Amino acid sequence: MKLVLAAAGLLLVPVVLVAAAVGAGAGGSEATGPGAGGAPGLVVAATRAGFTGQGLRLAVAVGLAESGGNPAVRSPNPPTPGCPQGSTDRGAWQLNNCYHPEVADACADQLACAAEATYRISAAGSDWRAWATYTSGAYQAKLGAADQALATLAAPTADGQIPAGYGTPGPCGLSPATDYAKHLVTELFGTADIGGCAPFSGHVENSDHYPVNGQAHAIDVMVATNTALGWQVAQWAAANAAALHVKYVIFQGQIIDFRAPAPGWHACRDPASSCARNHFNHVHISFTANA
Ligand SMILES: [Zn+2]
Repeated sequence: MKLVLAAAGLLLVPVVLVAAAVGAGAGGSEATGPGAGGAPGLVVAATRAGFTGQGLRLAVAVGLAESGGNPAVRSPNPPTPGCPQGSTDRGAWQLNNCYHPEVADACADQLACAAEATYRISAAGSDWRAWATYTSGAYQAKLGAADQALATLAAPTADGQIPAGYGTPGPCGLSPATDYAKHLVTELFGTADIGGCAPFSGHVENSDHYPVNGQAHAIDVMVATNTALGWQVAQWAAANAAALHVKYVIFQGQIIDFRAPAPGWHACRDPASSCARNHFNHVHISFTANA
């Protein structure tokens, strides 16, 4: 009896356990690595999950406060009365595996799936009380970053207008749409390691990396082994294909071709092709010839 009481008392003392027991989030470590994802990935995933308006703003700010937008963050919690085995906060929105066992690890660790679970748990973005960084107010420090990412991601408007000043001159430059997308990738995803125009070697025949009238129409966004970043870039480019004048996107043996009647991601058709074999450390984005 005495032992039980003592144990129970120990378990209830730390404030952080109470916060964790509320549910989804106990506050994650901030992701600081270059190109870890951050706000752009959260915006893309949350938008696709259905968040809009203030709910979208909060989804991004809470995700930033919980994990820095890093889908790989895991935060263990010690045992609590409700979760005597301890628990783990998982992924970008730090979804707790004890309070939300219906969310599989693989889902919590994947931005798109985690965003859908967060949409459900937060009642479509209207109730964030399950997240410790919301109830503590920590999310408020992230609203500025959320607003900035939302504004920048909305920059390529549906009319496909490319702001003045983009495009680099020949003989091996970039077309305006290609140069603008390169600029956005750097600004949104924090990487400047992006290939563009290449001399007539090293790529497949008729590669969009080769200049036509002095300007190329493709970029290679180098991500090394950061496939989460690669998919964020790839899915962002695909989601904004019309505004960005994207022709097709290739990553990890998958392609989405906007010249098709109903574009969708699918495996490269020829397993021996460059499409299937050469796009694991970079995202290839091709742009239409007239932009
Ligand atoms: Zn390429």
